[in-house]
Amino acid sequence: ASTWANVPAGPPDPILGVTEKFKADKSPKKINLGVGAYRDGQGKPYVLPTVKKAEKILSDAMQDKEYLPITGLAEFTKLAAELAYGKDSKPIVEKRLAITQSISGTGALRIGTAFLARHYPGAKTIYLPTPTWGNHIPISKDSGLEVKQYKYFNKDTVGLDFEGMKADIKAAPEGSIILLHACAHNPTGIDPTEAQWKELSDLVKEKKHFAFFDMAYQGFASGDILKDAFAVRYFVEQGHQILLCQSFAKNMGLYGERAGAISFVCESAEEKARVDSQLKILIRPLYSNPPVHGARLVSTILSSPELTEEWLIEVKGMADRIIEMRERLYNKLVELKTPGEWGHIKSQIGMFSFTGLKAEQVDALAEKASIYLTRDGRISMAGLNANNVDYFAESVSKAVK
Ligand code: PLP
Repeated sequence: ASTWANVPAGPPDPILGVTEKFKADKSPKKINLGVGAYRDGQGKPYVLPTVKKAEKILSDAMQDKEYLPITGLAEFTKLAAELAYGKDSKPIVEKRLAITQSISGTGALRIGTAFLARHYPGAKTIYLPTPTWGNHIPISKDSGLEVKQYKYFNKDTVGLDFEGMKADIKAAPEGSIILLHACAHNPTGIDPTEAQWKELSDLVKEKKHFAFFDMAYQGFASGDILKDAFAVRYFVEQGHQILLCQSFAKNMGLYGERAGAISFVCESAEEKARVDSQLKILIRPLYSNPPVHGARLVSTILSSPELTEEWLIEVKGMADRIIEMRERLYNKLVELKTPGEWGHIKSQIGMFSFTGLKAEQVDALAEKASIYLTRDGRISMAGLNANNVDYFAESVSKAVK
C-alpha cells in the first residue's frame, strides 16, 4: 500500500476555496467577493504607484541577495514600529520594544502565539472574538494555545455587542490573553468607538489580562494611518505591555511579498534583549530568516518623506473607493426596495462588509448569479466597482425576496 494511503482528504479552506469555485465559473458576469485583496475601479489587482517607484529604485541599486539576520531588516522593523506606535512612543524612545520581521501578518500571529505558548507566565488560553478571521483559530491551536471566545457581533443590530464583549472579557480568568483586532475587524467591519476602546483598556487592565493586537489593516479602515492606530497607541500610553502583529499586505498591496512584523512592549532594554534572544531561538528553526524584497520595498517608501506622503494618499484612495462602493451598494439596495435594513453596509469599515446574508442565500447567489462570497455572508467590498455593483445589488435583492 502507498505510504499515504490513510491520509484523509481535508476540507477546502473556507476563504481560498471560494476563489477556486470562482475560477471554475465560466459566466462573464461572475464576481469574486471572497478573498480580502484590494481591486481597483476596473476590478484589477492594484500595484501602488509608490511601490512601482520603490521597485525602480531597488532595481537600479541592484543590492545583493544575501540572507537577512534572523529578525529581518533592521531598517524595516524600525520604520514599521514607528508607523504603528508613533516615533515618540515611549517603548521606542526608551529602547524597550522587541520587534522582528515576520512572514506578513500570518507569520506575525504564528510567532506571537508560539512565543506565548513558550513564555507566557499565565494560563495559555487565548480569547478570540466571535466571529474572527478564520485563520486565528488554527494559528492559535497549532501554536499550542487553548482557544476560547468572547462575544463581539450582535446579529439583531448587525453591530457590536459591546455589553456581551465586556461581560465575557470580565468573566475570563485573571491574566488571560485577549486578541483584539486593532481596526477594520475581519469579518464584521465593526470596530469599537474610541470611547469604547478606553473602556476596554480599563477593563483589560483591571483584570490583568494581556492585550494581543492584530493590526492587518492600518490605513484601510478610515484612510488615515493615525486614526486606525488609535487603539494600539492608546493601550501603550495606558501602560499595557501589548504584543502587536503588523502586515503590509493590504495597506501597501504587498500581499505576496509577505512583509510583516511582530513587536513586544517590554519593561526595560534589558528585558527587550532577553525577549529578542528568545525570538531568534523561536524563528531560526522555523525559516531561518525572512524574505528580503518586501521589507526593502517598505523601507524604501517609509524612509523617504516624499514617497511616504504619496503612499498615504494612495492608502486613502483605496479606503475612499471602498467607502464610495458602500454608498452605492446601500443606495441601490434601498432603491430596489430590498427587504431588510441595510444601514450597516455604510457604517461598517475596512475591506469587508458582513451583509447578514444567510448561507442558503450565499449558495443561491453562486448558483444563480455567479457571485461568490464566504458562507458567513461576508463580502470583500474591494471586489465591487462601478461595473458590477448594480448587478450585485439586484442579485442580492432577488436572493432575499
Ligand atoms: N489578520 C487579519 C485579521 C487578516 O484579515 C489577515 C488577512 O486577511 C491577516 C491577519 C494576515 O494577512 P497576511 O498574512 O496576508 O499579512
